[in-house]
Amino acid sequence: MSAGVLVVGEFADGHLGGATLEAIGVARSLGGPVAGYVAGAGARSAAADFGRYGVATAYAVEDPQLDRAPAGARTPSLRAAAEAAGATVVLVAGSTLGRDLVGRLAIEWDAASATGVTELAWADGALRVRRPIFGGRATETRRLEGERRVVAIRPHAFPAPPEAATPGTVHELPSGAVAPALLAPERTGVAAAARGSGPGLTDASIVVSGGRGVRSPENFHLVEELAASLGAAVGASRAVTDAGWRPTSFQVGQTGRAVSPQLYIAVGISGAIQHIVGMISSRVIVAINSDASAPIFRVADYGIVGDLFQILPALTAEVRRVRGMPAA
Ligand SMILES: Cc1cc2nc3c(=O)[nH]c(=O)nc-3n(C[C@H](O)[C@H](O)[C@H](O)COP(=O)(O)OP(=O)(O)OC[C@H]3O[C@@H](n4cnc5c(N)ncnc54)[C@H](O)[C@@H]3O)c2cc1C
Repeated sequence: MSAGVLVVGEFADGHLGGATLEAIGVARSLGGPVAGYVAGAGARSAAADFGRYGVATAYAVEDPQLDRAPAGARTPSLRAAAEAAGATVVLVAGSTLGRDLVGRLAIEWDAASATGVTELAWADGALRVRRPIFGGRATETRRLEGERRVVAIRPHAFPAPPEAATPGTVHELPSGAVAPALLAPERTGVAAAARGSGPGLTDASIVVSGGRGVRSPENFHLVEELAASLGAAVGASRAVTDAGWRPTSFQVGQTGRAVSPQLYIAVGISGAIQHIVGMISSRVIVAINSDASAPIFRVADYGIVGDLFQILPALTAEVRRVRGMPAA
C-alpha cells in the first residue's frame, strides 16, 4: 500500500533544515506522492526548497505570527494542506515543534500517532512503525491503523536524500486566525545561547560530553578542544552541571537534553541510567573511562580504558592532523 505523505518542513535562512530533509527521504521511501508544508516568516521561499529534493508540490503559510504561536496555531492550515495534497500521513521532524505538532494534529485530525520513530513501512494496509523505548533497552513495534497517521521521526535516524531537482509548485494557504492570547511576547533580539561556538546540542551530528572524571571546570577545555576538532557540540553529565562547571543547557540525560547524533563520545562519564537514556539512541557511542567496569562500556560501541588527561590531548592532536587543521 502507498498513500500520500505530507512533510512538515522547518527552515532557516530560506532553506529546509537537515531534520526536514531526513523526513523527505523517509516520505519518498514510502512510495506514494509526497508534498511539503512550511509556515511562518519566509515560508514562501523555503517552500520552493522542497523541489530540490524531488517534492513537486509544497504548501506555504506566509504568516510571521506563527513563529510566535504554539504548534496548535498551525493545525488548521496543516489539515488544509494534508487534505489538498490527498495525504493520509503527516511526517514531522522530531524537534520540539514537531513533537508538539504530533499531539495537536493527532487530536484535531483524528489520526493515529507515534513519536521518536526509527523505522516505518507499510504492512498489510497499516503503517508499521518501530521506536526505541525504556532508554533504548527495548524496541516497540506499532501498527498505525485508521485513515490518518501523524509521525515524528527521530533526528539522525535516517539519511537525508540526495538532491533530485524537480520543477515545483508552491501553493499559498491562509493561516487562519491566531488568538492574541496564544502569541508569545514578540522577540526583539536573540542572545547567543550558553553553548560555546559549536553546533546546537540536539541538532549536532557529533557530541562530545564530559563528566565528573574531568575533575574541575578548568580541565573542561580538554573536552571542548576535542569537540572543536571534530566540529561537535559539547555536552555534560549532570555531575558537571550540578557542580556549576557548565550551564544546565549542556546536560544530557533524563533531566537534560535527549540527543541522537551519529557519534557520541562520553569522556569521564560513568554511565548512570539517567545519563544513558539521553544518549542511547546515538548511532555510534565511544566511551573514554579509566575504570574498565564503568557501566558506560555496556552501551558503548568502542571503548578506551585509560586516563582522559592522556587520551584527550593525543586524540585531539590526531584528529586535527587527519583533518588538516593546524596544531593547537
Ligand atoms: C532524578 C535524577 C535525574 C538525573 N538526571 C540526570 C541527567 O539528566 N543526566 C546525567 O548525566 N545524570 C543525571 N542524574 C545523575 C546520575 O545518576 C549520575 O549521578 C551522573 O550521571 C553521574 O555523572 P558522571 O558520570 O559525570 O559522574 P560519576 O558517576 O562520578 O563518574 C565519573 C566517571 O569518570 C571516570 N574517571 C575518573 N577519572 C578519570 C580519568 N582520569 N580518566 C577517565 N575517566 C575517569 C570514573 O571512572 C567514573 O566512571 C540524575 C539523577 C537523578 C536521581
